Amino acid sequence: MKIHEYQAKELFKKFSVPVPRGGPAFSVEEALKVAEVIGTFPVVVKAQIHAGGRGKGGGVKLAHSLDEVKTHAKKIYGMNLVTKQTGPEGKQVNRLLVEQGCNIAKELYLSILPDRESAKIVIMASEAGGMDIEEVAEKTPEKLIKVYVDPLLGIQPFQLGEVAFGLNLPKPAIKPFKALLKNLYTLFTTYDCSLVEINPLVLTKDDDVCAIDAKVDIDSNALYRHKDVIEYRDTEEEDPLEVEASKFNLNYINLGGKGTVGNMVNGAGLAMATMDAIKAAGAEPANFLDVGGGANAESIANGFKILLSDKNIKGILINIFGGILRCDVLAQGVVQAAKETGLKIPLVVRMEGTNVEEGKRILKESGLSMITANNLKDASEKIAEAVS
Ligand code: GDP
Ligand code: MN
Repeated sequence: MKIHEYQAKELFKKFSVPVPRGGPAFSVEEALKVAEVIGTFPVVVKAQIHAGGRGKGGGVKLAHSLDEVKTHAKKIYGMNLVTKQTGPEGKQVNRLLVEQGCNIAKELYLSILPDRESAKIVIMASEAGGMDIEEVAEKTPEKLIKVYVDPLLGIQPFQLGEVAFGLNLPKPAIKPFKALLKNLYTLFTTYDCSLVEINPLVLTKDDDVCAIDAKVDIDSNALYRHKDVIEYRDTEEEDPLEVEASKFNLNYINLGGKGTVGNMVNGAGLAMATMDAIKAAGAEPANFLDVGGGANAESIANGFKILLSDKNIKGILINIFGGILRCDVLAQGVVQAAKETGLKIPLVVRMEGTNVEEGKRILKESGLSMITANNLKDASEKIAEAVS
């Protein structure tokens, strides 16, 4: 689960990671109120969206008076912000963060994430932080320090020193930096994060450290034990069809390309194999809906409607290996949805497994026009033919 910068900073405060004074605003008037409470200038007005690169896209502005706060807030609030990470369609800004401006001596980079290869937690840091960190990582990777932490041992004092040393910090900043990193690591493990990133972490002119940006991603599978952050979810930032699918415990993934084939499968592995087969047959998958094991006819029907509401698709492939999810239950759901929506695009069905005969009978007797397939290769060739 992604959360907003201002929410990430609330977590930072809880773990004593220093952040500038300020708070969120949900209107231009609120932005002015927050700026008044801060009481000094400059203040920063920042767009809150689930994407980075806001600075370069015009979503982060410094204000030197209340008038300027108003001008910037008016401009940013409600704007369609286009950044490298939003894609060309951009994202509408519905929330702002107003903060005290920071006295920047140097912009550093700091992040914590799981490293699959070593099965450890990796701390990444660079003294070349700021808005061009991707370029640093690509062109001068030696400027990026990596320290691997054994999750069972936790972060060790010598490792805090290793990162501090690698960042070339002035002496007075070393102690506050080590405290910050230790606390950030505790936040990372306490909340089952998949990423914590501060870019830039600012070295101030009086040799202190402060997080002026904050990104925290939390593993959605661990949310059951972090009830306090569930309210941080902002569904306005998510794909509306993915949100709709999650209401029925289905996993819908929009592949975001130029694909024309919608897919209903059970299991992520089967989804991957199906995507490959469709590509091999010369067509392009648009999305997939993983109905999992626990679906019933009702949720299948809802899932099928979600697939149909994707405007790019010209045909649907259903590829199901019935196990816990029985083929007859799937067939009932598909028939129900197709009848309610009046299916107008080609449908290819390949089913195997539990109650497959009963499933096939239900589909056949429904009178729906569909193309049946005998195996995955056959199915992908038939759908490719149908959408071409
Ligand atoms: P991002 O572009 O989405 O990553 O947004 P950031 O929060 O990182 O802000 C982008 C840039 O704005 C930073 O790299 C800073 O250079 C600048 N910026 C942000 N906050 C302040 C501030 O308090 N004072 C000054 N002078 N610059 C800031
Ligand atoms: Mn940033």
